[in-house]
Amino acid sequence: MARRKLVVGNWKMHGVGADVAEIRAIADAAARAPEVDVGLCIPATLIERAVRAVPGFSIGAQDVHFLDRGAHTGCTSAEMIADAGGSIVIVGHSERRDAQKESDEEVRSKSEAGLRAGLLVILCVGESLPVREAGDALPTVLRQLQASLPRETDLAGLAIAYEPIWAIGTGKTATIDDVDEMHSAIRKQLTDRCGDAGGGIRILYGGSVKPNNAADIFSVTDVDGALVGGASLKASDFIPIIEAAALKA
Ligand code: PEP
Repeated sequence: MARRKLVVGNWKMHGVGADVAEIRAIADAAARAPEVDVGLCIPATLIERAVRAVPGFSIGAQDVHFLDRGAHTGCTSAEMIADAGGSIVIVGHSERRDAQKESDEEVRSKSEAGLRAGLLVILCVGESLPVREAGDALPTVLRQLQASLPRETDLAGLAIAYEPIWAIGTGKTATIDDVDEMHSAIRKQLTDRCGDAGGGIRILYGGSVKPNNAADIFSVTDVDGALVGGASLKASDFIPIIEAAALKA
């Protein structure tokens, strides 16, 4: 099944008003690559300003509460993200699974909240280094995916990001063979679960994707794009990654 490439930046806790110029440069580059879907997940404080600055470009958040409203100090609902003009949300990033002790069940509820609000949900899974070294990466990630997948039957608004934890922000990337093996296994799990529709769910790779390795990563059959941290902060780094995806579209 043909899938459009999707390249999304994760700005983490970076980004103030002065950085809207960078977002504008990235949005301009995205407009020159209409065959690729491009988005930026930025701090919640910046979403509305970015949406006003680059109408038509996809802006998103990096987390969401699993409930729609209530007494949850400091939290943001999916409805609020959509109301601010956001169209994407990342859930289950390993930094949140680790630091905020988010369980698979919580991540699943967050995915469901994002889908309910009509957001594109990027659900992250990935193994730690000890797990990879013990040879348990595949079953661990598949178990995590199984437990974090939304219970909805219509998963058209979902993308998966396979992000080996040890590759995030470290400059290390998984080997092409390892990426291939993991993405194929994730694809099989998605088609087992959703039938033909599972063939339409995009699977992104994340973990030190840079201008110099993006083309190789995008050539893997079941890699449908990338979730990019550090290299998405500067247009000069992110644009070549968008261009590499466009060449494989
Ligand atoms: C991420 O934060 O999701 C990520 C993949 O970061 P980096 O590209 O910096 O490894």
